[in-house]
Amino acid sequence: MRMNLSFHKLFFCRGLYISPIGITILGELMGLVFKEVYDITILISENMPIYPGDMPFSRQKISKIVTGQPYNLSAFRFGAHIGTHLDAPTHFFDYGKSLDQYPAERFFLQTSVVSVLESERIEPQDLSELNIRRGEAVLFRTENSRRSLLRRDLFLDDFVYMSNEAAELCVQIGVSLVGIDYLSIEKYGEKSAPVHSTLLANDVLILEGIDLIDVPDGRFTLICLPLKIEDSEGAPARAILVR
Ligand SMILES: [Zn+2]
Repeated sequence: MRMNLSFHKLFFCRGLYISPIGITILGELMGLVFKEVYDITILISENMPIYPGDMPFSRQKISKIVTGQPYNLSAFRFGAHIGTHLDAPTHFFDYGKSLDQYPAERFFLQTSVVSVLESERIEPQDLSELNIRRGEAVLFRTENSRRSLLRRDLFLDDFVYMSNEAAELCVQIGVSLVGIDYLSIEKYGEKSAPVHSTLLANDVLILEGIDLIDVPDGRFTLICLPLKIEDSEGAPARAILVR
């Protein structure tokens, strides 16, 4: 715990201009070495599962060394909600906040990773025994991970989701961010999107598409940094857990 808090302090007190190498060196000098680092981001590629209706990833190679040009240069095209990504309130509320309006520290959170297995949805009782404090995050590792759904090419619609009652409890607890191990937190085909609405109306960010297959339950620091795109209601993020 102290190690993580020190990391926060180091990072924010000294400012964001410190390079990652600088952080590593300073971290080593101060004895801040994380014993465990889990990259929970899925690879963005043309073979990733895509939620129906979302724009898949594609790459155009504008310049290629192999064809005699001086450098490699790519252009990408993809939906804002592909792979590991964050949802912001403006995803469901026109006047809600977009991701670029949040300060960077909102994406560094004390987090519980919780397994909810042999169950088709996350229910309030799955949160009841957890000691989650106001402002923290909670990430759910479900049958979606056991079935390795995010590591398959094709989208499957029978994934585990969150019940609206569990979403309401997250709001009551004051959770800052909820994460799930597939491309949506909502039951597939649920047109009125009650879970997204409940969470986003109360400024609870949603982290979807996290790969928790190899992650144990427990307490971590979550770092999930979305691309800083103007007015974005969603954006891919690099998400890692450390402790
Ligand atoms: Zn989304």
